Amino acid sequence: MPRALVAAAVGLVTVGAWDLAGEPSAFAKGHSGARGVFEYGCRVQPPQKFLERRSFLQKGMIDTKKQAEAVRWRTERYGFPDDDTAHAAGTSSHSQAKTVHFMGLPISIHAKIAPALACVEKRLLKTATGASRYKPRAIGGFRESNTYRGVEVSNHLYGIAIDIDPDKNPCCKCVEPWPNNPICKNPGDVTKRTTLPKAWIKAFERFGFDWLGNDTLEDTMHFEFLGDPDKITK
Ligand SMILES: [Zn+2]
Repeated sequence: MPRALVAAAVGLVTVGAWDLAGEPSAFAKGHSGARGVFEYGCRVQPPQKFLERRSFLQKGMIDTKKQAEAVRWRTERYGFPDDDTAHAAGTSSHSQAKTVHFMGLPISIHAKIAPALACVEKRLLKTATGASRYKPRAIGGFRESNTYRGVEVSNHLYGIAIDIDPDKNPCCKCVEPWPNNPICKNPGDVTKRTTLPKAWIKAFERFGFDWLGNDTLEDTMHFEFLGDPDKITK
């Protein structure tokens, strides 16, 4: 998430990010059963709606009850989104940080979601070929200071968000200077204002990541893991 948040006029979200029906091949490639569908060793799972930013922030108004619930749920699973000194040893999110490599680049994320990101990479290497090939040059994960104003808590503080090439995938509805990026002038749906191929967005969504390109912010560089971290590999 870039530096600040505009008081965005939030429209209705019409993008159905989750579309299992469109990918029947998943069942052939992975294994399925009562326990769910697994691919590359990870559960195929959607981002959980109640954690999606657009579920508690609509038309520029924040539903503080829903938002507090989302914060509580994330803190229970990932630790406190503050610095290490504010809480008992090992209970902050950042104390559970892990450096992994994603598409050849090092990134610090919460250890719990590392398997999901590894599965995204495996899927990308398999499916994002040809015209869908994309080589990231700058990625960011864990952050220790909040980038939202007000009560919102960035998922970068939990280590469950990842930004990819902000210069090429800007946040067109954030505050200046983001909207000045020439790509923000492109008309049409949001996929015209990012250089990320659709195959990339799909790969992330498949393993529980929400793309903030679908949010009113149009923060196209940003993915956040909103699946259940305790069910990634089992
Ligand atoms: Zn971000």
